[in-house]
Amino acid sequence: MPKDRKNICCLCTGRMNRKVTTSCQHSFCKCCLLQQLNHSNRCPLCRKKILFFTSPTCFGSAPNN
Ligand SMILES: [Zn+2]
Ligand SMILES: [Zn+2]
Repeated sequence: MPKDRKNICCLCTGRMNRKVTTSCQHSFCKCCLLQQLNHSNRCPLCRKKILFFTSPTCFGSAPNN
């Protein structure tokens, strides 16, 4: 399986900026997910209700911010 695809956000179809994973185990950029949550609390991929999301702390240092 092409490992790059895991890092593509389906909302902006770009590389995930700050990857967050939803309660249904789907991942998006944090900013894309927050936008999504503004109009719907359902996952755009599987339509399950997003109960929570987590951001993995694998980004040791974030220069932009
Ligand atoms: Zn995105
Ligand atoms: Zn989902």
